[in-house]
Amino acid sequence: MSSECFITQEATNEILLRVTNVCAECYDDINKGDTIHYDMQNYRYLCKSCQERLCAQMNENCEMIEEESGGLFY
Ligand SMILES: [Zn+2]
Repeated sequence: MSSECFITQEATNEILLRVTNVCAECYDDINKGDTIHYDMQNYRYLCKSCQERLCAQMNENCEMIEEESGGLFY
């Protein structure tokens, strides 16, 4: 599942050295050449499985859908 909320990239040495070498969500190692997804809402890199999981919880505006929210903010 692709989404406008994420930028899909290939992990490069530069990203691994300068930004992160682990997924921001599950802390799995990211290796050079891995497909990673930049989360534009939270400014972090995610692995493929975390991106897919979060993507499924987002609406088309890239907002997280809080299933258990009582609607206090509406
Ligand atoms: Zn992950």
